[in-house]
Amino acid sequence: MTTLKRVDVHIEGIVQGVGFRPFVYSLANRLGLAGRVHNDVNGVHIEVEGAHDGVEEFLTALERDAPALSAIERVTVVSGEPAGHSGFTIATSDPAGPRRALVSADTATCDDCLRELADPADRRHRYPFINCTNCGPRFTIVRGVPYDRLMTTMAGYGMCGDCAREYHDPGDRRYHAQPTCCPACGPRLLLRDQRGTELCGDPVACAAVLLRAGRVVAVKGLGGYHLAVTASDERATAALRGRKHREEKPFAVMAADLAQARRIAHVDDTAAALLAGRARPIVLLPRRDGAPVAPSVAPGNRSLGIMLPYTALHHLLLAELAEPIVLTSGNVSDEPIAYEDDDALTRLAGIADAFLTHDRAIHLRADDSVIRPLPGAITVLRRARGYAPEPLALRRPVPRPVLACGAELKSTFCLAQGRRAFVSPHIGDLENHETLRSFIEGIDHYCGLFDIRPEIVAHDLHPGYLSTRHALDIHGVDHVGVQHHHAHIASCLADNGDPGPVIGVAFDGLGHGTDGTLWGGEFLRADLTGYERLGHLAQVPMPGGAAAIRQPWRMTAAYLRDQHPGLAVTERNAEHWADVLRLAADAPLTSSAGRLFDAVSALLGVRDKITYEGQAAIELEQRADPAETGAYDAAITTAPAGPLIVEGGDLVRAAAADLAAGTGPGVIAGRFHNGVAAAITRTCVALRQSTGLTAVALSGGVFQNALLLDRTVQRLRAAGFRVLKHVRVPPNDGGLSLGQAAVAAARDRR
Ligand SMILES: [Zn+2]
Ligand SMILES: [Zn+2]
Repeated sequence: MTTLKRVDVHIEGIVQGVGFRPFVYSLANRLGLAGRVHNDVNGVHIEVEGAHDGVEEFLTALERDAPALSAIERVTVVSGEPAGHSGFTIATSDPAGPRRALVSADTATCDDCLRELADPADRRHRYPFINCTNCGPRFTIVRGVPYDRLMTTMAGYGMCGDCAREYHDPGDRRYHAQPTCCPACGPRLLLRDQRGTELCGDPVACAAVLLRAGRVVAVKGLGGYHLAVTASDERATAALRGRKHREEKPFAVMAADLAQARRIAHVDDTAAALLAGRARPIVLLPRRDGAPVAPSVAPGNRSLGIMLPYTALHHLLLAELAEPIVLTSGNVSDEPIAYEDDDALTRLAGIADAFLTHDRAIHLRADDSVIRPLPGAITVLRRARGYAPEPLALRRPVPRPVLACGAELKSTFCLAQGRRAFVSPHIGDLENHETLRSFIEGIDHYCGLFDIRPEIVAHDLHPGYLSTRHALDIHGVDHVGVQHHHAHIASCLADNGDPGPVIGVAFDGLGHGTDGTLWGGEFLRADLTGYERLGHLAQVPMPGGAAAIRQPWRMTAAYLRDQHPGLAVTERNAEHWADVLRLAADAPLTSSAGRLFDAVSALLGVRDKITYEGQAAIELEQRADPAETGAYDAAITTAPAGPLIVEGGDLVRAAAADLAAGTGPGVIAGRFHNGVAAAITRTCVALRQSTGLTAVALSGGVFQNALLLDRTVQRLRAAGFRVLKHVRVPPNDGGLSLGQAAVAAARDRR
């Protein structure tokens, strides 16, 4: 006689909207088990009973064979008495109670859907909104939870008979695919002119004709509108720059497939996996010599940001064109990307000649994510579409729910509850009303979606940041101010699930210090609860304050003062050099590593003025000769009982001397990068002696620099350190909210 067994299984994680219930249904049927499965507010609940061995196999296969888009966080199994179920059923969702189920990220069109898209016999042949349980829009169309069609922007589309049959058939690959639709019942693609008038003809074919003719076409994507031009067309690309008021910041390029991407860039296995993965980020890759890409796409840059199509519309358009397109966010200058149709028509009217659009609303804006592959690792530069809102697991649960408001540039916020940290998608620079609105609405949406009511609100110490002001405007909560660079190191710790303490190296642009100066080249003894400033780059004045950020040559002047043996940078700026030195006398002081890179960039004639944040350092890295092994030396001095001081000025002066002696800028840039890595390592060695700490965490925007990161990690490892770097969130200020949340939770715990 077979023994009967009954278990109740509760599964938490990303298990709704990813085909989990049909997977459970077919698994139970295959094993001849009875019972039922349904979604509840926390995830998926299963009651299953049958032969002992069958139930055991069921429990094993549940985790082993789970659907591709699911991410199981926890499985709870409780044994019980068999209830005498006959057959296995899928029960309706239960929307009552607190909502904790997760929403998955938007996912690129899957291979099964692509096959149907290309099949003339399929009823979704060339239908731009094709999707299934394994792919399609998710986060950007969700209005609330539980994740069901009625809670998405697809609610207004009644399913036709065929779609309804698929949707209700547990054996169909569109079973409970909430956004499923077809040409008979779903959204419609259309092409509009600048005034919004619909143009006739096939929208994709007509858009391709316009692109080939050198026009700018706005294309509605998953998380917002993009602006497209043919990537090889210099006139069109330059026109797009002019209309967008984007002078030099590189544009991303979309290639039809890996083969096309390989014609314009060097794509290794890591890069290929990232490009073709379901998140479809923009991947920064070394440009091929002679690639048919217009100079204005990425001026002064050896890399190209490349992505592959992630919606059926992209696939159709790229196939029609048979060549890569520029696909850059639909906005003017630094505004947030347009995602609402009327707003897009208004804001982009002066930029786009036509709009390739549709009538499925985007509920939440999400930019493209950006990733830079490194040898054996990646650096996330921008975490947005394809990754958000999936939570990051925390090492320890937070005692009370936390909202962390981030900083100012590359803003994100983070909500933490239990062991989950929900970092928002990249919002942009919190400098204008539109971005601030996006930030505040995003917080509300996340609080609703994940049912989190923050009791602690963490913020930067800078009183002028809009994020700080917003945090302090929230009443009835505990406020926690977190120093900028401590938050960076805490972010790296949380990213790695490491509690610290570590030697934290926070190298970035500028952050509010506790001594009234601007920090940014910091060596901290840090854990999640606190930090001590054990060292920093020697302070220099920032002549003219913010003007020194826009004009890196001012930093060269601040470092070199009158020691400039016939350098070109002095000649180029001779008219203002003396004035700037006078300004330096009572300018704000900074220990910023970003400003040190700026000084060398201008010194080498790479950048005297910038048009986007970080440009001087980015182009300096591009210029550096990676084969150069020499390194400049920076003195490290100790004041009694004070922090170690790293003389960044030594590096600038050594570079100036080499330049005056006729050494090439590529070699000098290489020696400078190596010199910074060597100075970091020697400082860490000194701090290991005084603290006994053997782990180093690297964070801050300067570590977006792949060359610097690589050289620093190599030297630190050679010196015997365990090195933590960012994995899931950016080293720049986009990762800061996670660090603030981790600090606030750790202090709350104590
Ligand atoms: Zn699919
Ligand atoms: Zn239909």
